[in-house]
Amino acid sequence: MLVPNNQHKKKKTGLIIGTTSLLAIALAGGVVYYTAVVDEPTEETITQSSQQQKQQIEEPVQSITPIEPVVEAPPLEKVDATKYDETKELPTEPTYINGILIANKQYPLPSTYAPDTDPTAQAALDTMVAAAAKENIQLVGFSGYRSYDYQTTLYNNYVARDGQEEADRYSARPGYSEHQTGLAFDIGEVGKEDLWLTAAFGETPAGQWLVQHAPTYGFILRYPKGKEHLTGFMYESWHFRYVGVEHALKIAEQNITLEEYLGVYEGKEVIVPQVAEEAPQENGSTVEQSEVTTTEGTQVGAKSEHNNP
Ligand SMILES: [Zn+2]
Repeated sequence: MLVPNNQHKKKKTGLIIGTTSLLAIALAGGVVYYTAVVDEPTEETITQSSQQQKQQIEEPVQSITPIEPVVEAPPLEKVDATKYDETKELPTEPTYINGILIANKQYPLPSTYAPDTDPTAQAALDTMVAAAAKENIQLVGFSGYRSYDYQTTLYNNYVARDGQEEADRYSARPGYSEHQTGLAFDIGEVGKEDLWLTAAFGETPAGQWLVQHAPTYGFILRYPKGKEHLTGFMYESWHFRYVGVEHALKIAEQNITLEEYLGVYEGKEVIVPQVAEEAPQENGSTVEQSEVTTTEGTQVGAKSEHNNP
């Protein structure tokens, strides 16, 4: 009995709600129409909105502002790769460019960076030494990873013995030796120790075999002849740096230095130091090119370099 009555009431209520809704919609429509008409921009609102637009346009321009000096072509930063920057402290992180670790006089290593010998580089060296042996060339990597502390001891000993100016000619300062990366090896020939750490090694069949084949194993001759102004160090026929086969082959193909390959000097003016073209060679060394230094600080290196005037 109660149910139909309730249903009737619901129908009636529904009708009222329906009508109210229609009215509300109609009213809302009217308000929207009214608003649209009234909001038609007057001259004043046009000015306001164009100012707003102007502000919106100006904002991104302001964010571009820092790039402006590029348009004005800033003077090139002069870089002398062979000189240490005395004002700079050692960094807290090593520098990687395109995934390749760089260590030179512009990009030194942190004193805390102590990776030890890179196992991949060591394996590549072993493979290369074995390959050379098959061609009757007995190579040996006689100097590899050097810790910051070890390089400090070496360098300080040289400074105590010869003075800093002299020590800087043949030994890298701590933090500046590529041997601290664990990716560099000094390579020589077994039984020809007298040629270790000399330019003359580069003239031997073993030295030439290395230059030709090292890239196949991921190594590059790190300090080639005549590139001191880029690498910062004199020609080192014995010093090879592991960068991986892909990069090594590209670098060798283009006959460029690691610095050029990484674009380290892009937008910078490289100062080319005055270096004697063909310094007189005694014991096969070219230490007369005193504007540049070697990276070596081994006892052998010191002995070798000090055999020269
Ligand atoms: Zn070396």
